[in-house]
Amino acid sequence: MPTDHRPPSALTIAGSDSGGGAGIQADLKAFAALGVHGLSAITALTAQNTQGVDAVHVPPVDFLRAQIDTCFADFDIQAVKLGMLANAEVVDAVVDALRQHQPRFVVLDPVMIATSGARLLDADAQSALRGRLLPLASVLTPNIPEAEWLLGHRISDAAAADKALHALHALGADAVLLKGAHLDEGDEVIDRWFDGEAEAKFIHPRLDIEGHGTGCTLASAIAANLCLGLSPRDAAQAASDYVAHALASGYSPGRSNVRVLDHF
Ligand code: PLP
Repeated sequence: MPTDHRPPSALTIAGSDSGGGAGIQADLKAFAALGVHGLSAITALTAQNTQGVDAVHVPPVDFLRAQIDTCFADFDIQAVKLGMLANAEVVDAVVDALRQHQPRFVVLDPVMIATSGARLLDADAQSALRGRLLPLASVLTPNIPEAEWLLGHRISDAAAADKALHALHALGADAVLLKGAHLDEGDEVIDRWFDGEAEAKFIHPRLDIEGHGTGCTLASAIAANLCLGLSPRDAAQAASDYVAHALASGYSPGRSNVRVLDHF
C-alpha cells in the first residue's frame, strides 16, 4: 500500500558477505529491523560462507565514491556506518567523502580481521584508519583485538579494559564502545561505553556460540538508533541488547556451527 511515511536513512559503507551473515547484508537487515531505510556503498566483495573467506575483490575506488555521492544526492542520511574498508585508498576515499558530505553521525567499526582469520584491512591501511578516519567518528566500536592494535598493547583483563576505554577515547572519536566478548570475565560479556563524560557497562550473559556478523550488526544498530533520535549512549545500549538477543535466537545456515543473527 502506498504511504507518504518517509523514514530516516542510514548508509553503510562496508564489504559484502556472500554468505549473508556479516557485512552489508547484516547491516541492511539491522536497518530494516529497526525501522530505518538502509543504503549501501560497497567497498569490497567477499566470496564467503560460514567457514571462511575464499576471495576478495575491491572495485575501483572511484566507483565507491560514486555510490556514496549518489546516495547523499537524494536521501536524508542521518548516520553512516563504516565497516570493512579493505585498503588505504578506500580509507582515504571515505575520509574525503565524509569531509564533503558531513553526516551528523559516523559509527566506525574498525574491522581488521574476520573471526575466521581472513584479513579485511591491509596492514598499511591501519595507520590511515587510525590517524585520519578515527577522529571523524561519533562512535568507535572496537573489539578487544582491534583495541589492542589501536593502542599498541595487550588488554588482558578487566582492569586493563577499563583503562583502554579512556585511551581509545583519547584517539579522537566522540565516544567509544569497547566490545568485551574476547575478554574472559566469567559468565558475562561486558561492553564498555565512554563518551568523554560518562561511563557505562552493558552486560549480557555469555553464550557458548561462535557468532558471525555480531560486530557489523552492533555498529549498524547504533547507526539506526541514532537515526531514530536516541542519544548516543541509549543508541549503544539498545544496540548491545539487540545483538545479544539476535545472537541468542540466531541460527546456523551453513555446514559449520557458526551462527548468524536472527533480526526478526
Ligand atoms: N565479512 C565482511 C564483509 C565483514 O565486514 C566482516 C566484519 O565486519 C566480516 C566478514 C567478519 O565478521 P565476523 O568476524 O563476525 O565473522
